[in-house]
Amino acid sequence: MTASRCVRIGQAVVIPTILLLISFPYKQTTAYQDRGPAPAGLHRPRLVLVIVADQFRYDYLDRFGDLFGMNGLKRLMRDGASWIDANYDQVPTYTAPSHATIMTGAYPALTGIVANEWPDRETGKKVSSVSDADGTLFAGGAAEEASSPRRLMTSTVGDELRLATNDRSKVIGISVKDRAAILTAGRHANAAYWISQQTGSIVSSNYYFSQLPGWVTKFNATRPEDKYFGAKWERLLAEQEYLRGAGSDSPAWEKVKSATDTNSFPHVITGGLTAPGEKFYEALDVSPFTSDILLAFAKEAITNEHLGADDDPDVLAISFSANDYVGHRYGPYSQEVMDVTLRFDRQLAELLEFVDARVGLGNTVVLFTADHGVAPAPEQAIAAGLSGGRIKASEVLAPIRAAISERFNPTSQLPDRTADYIYKYRDEREAKDALINGNLYFDRAALKRDGINLDELEQVACRAAMAVRGIARCYTRAQIEQGAIPDSDYIGRRVSHGFYSARSGDLVLITSPFYVISTETATHGSPYAYDTHVPLMLMGAGITAGQYLQPANPMDVAPTLSALLKVQPPSASSGRILREALQH
Ligand SMILES: [Zn+2]
Repeated sequence: MTASRCVRIGQAVVIPTILLLISFPYKQTTAYQDRGPAPAGLHRPRLVLVIVADQFRYDYLDRFGDLFGMNGLKRLMRDGASWIDANYDQVPTYTAPSHATIMTGAYPALTGIVANEWPDRETGKKVSSVSDADGTLFAGGAAEEASSPRRLMTSTVGDELRLATNDRSKVIGISVKDRAAILTAGRHANAAYWISQQTGSIVSSNYYFSQLPGWVTKFNATRPEDKYFGAKWERLLAEQEYLRGAGSDSPAWEKVKSATDTNSFPHVITGGLTAPGEKFYEALDVSPFTSDILLAFAKEAITNEHLGADDDPDVLAISFSANDYVGHRYGPYSQEVMDVTLRFDRQLAELLEFVDARVGLGNTVVLFTADHGVAPAPEQAIAAGLSGGRIKASEVLAPIRAAISERFNPTSQLPDRTADYIYKYRDEREAKDALINGNLYFDRAALKRDGINLDELEQVACRAAMAVRGIARCYTRAQIEQGAIPDSDYIGRRVSHGFYSARSGDLVLITSPFYVISTETATHGSPYAYDTHVPLMLMGAGITAGQYLQPANPMDVAPTLSALLKVQPPSASSGRILREALQH
């Protein structure tokens, strides 16, 4: 089988018919066959199709696998290479850092994308990984900020590919979320498209072009989101399957904060409005329907941008966000997550069928992975007899403040000069204590004013934090920057990999398993398996099908794709080539 797969792209015509029947049990690559074989020895694909599911735990493949169709995830597992032990080796496990890592092959320590949002010490404001105050947003709301990859410090596979082909290759990223579309595509990409929560339109920014391409404007003219106003999200299959696969539809821990929705099927998507508007666009995010919109838009992109149409490879990266929004609201063991997963499988099948007809899967390398998993709702973990709980930010901040005051204001002078040692940043108009993403930031100006030694302050604060229920670890900036964390401490290693000096905090706190600092039903961001363990699959030219037991990391994708594309790996790529699945 391996031998026949080895020649399936370049020399398909010389394979005896009987072997063809064995190795091609399913219809595929008709477009490729029409075009004839690729030059001998050249396994370079015409299209790299990057598919990321935002919040998709590896175990969903096993838990829901028997209900998948034949041509979606099962097709990738059957015809592609699949790693059963792929984990991120960095924290926090959030959308922006992971999407940056997948196509740069680099840790946040080098990409600079340390979180979705962080306090910017220069301006004192909260910034996002892609927010661009100087940019112009196309098709967005009146006061909606533009986004661009300006904070991404390293190149992506797409960037290198475009350099290698004198920009003949096209690189496009698509998602509901700006960060997912932009960071996967890269700094030298042709375009990234995301969806405005204010207008419900596909938007982009002047980082890429001076106006939206005509085909995008045409797509927006169909009001892609408005079509779903009042749509009823029902279970795809009989309720019995969900009772078996996920349990009750409305357990107590499913917190639905919206007054216009409940925690049981069916979910009618209006956002409480009588006509499409912002609240409706927000509500639509927490449904499987945005993935249908992304799918329709991706088809338009492939067609109108002629992706995969010639020998200069193109990259199309699509990140499906619905899984994340639904997962946060209902949790990983909910009927809703089960349903959004089963629907994703069907949507994926439709995408693969379209690409097969248009480009030929034989000319395409398909990647499927996720940016992170998710922890169960802490209340569910507790009910199951596991440990766990919710930690309020104030429960962490209060003892840290007290310890700082005790050490640096021992005579309890008033006013307490230590009161402003914890940094405050502006979020909209509000001033907030800078405990965000598990990072605590100190106010450098205040410390300088009082001649406070940062290292000592960090240690005092860390000791106090470690006494808080549910806090497992605390790392100081000094420890991380001086490389004082032994490699045997895998959590510390993940913290170091996620630390970028100018953007990270002065302390990094790690909760115990199943503890979260969040009010959402379920969330992610930890160094634990439920957040780091994700699917990793590659299918296509040059890739040997099979299930691989070797440890892998989604960051290995970048050097592997670079090898398949025969281009320079991204600037800070430090993943490994997934050689076990490459034909040789
Ligand atoms: Zn999330």
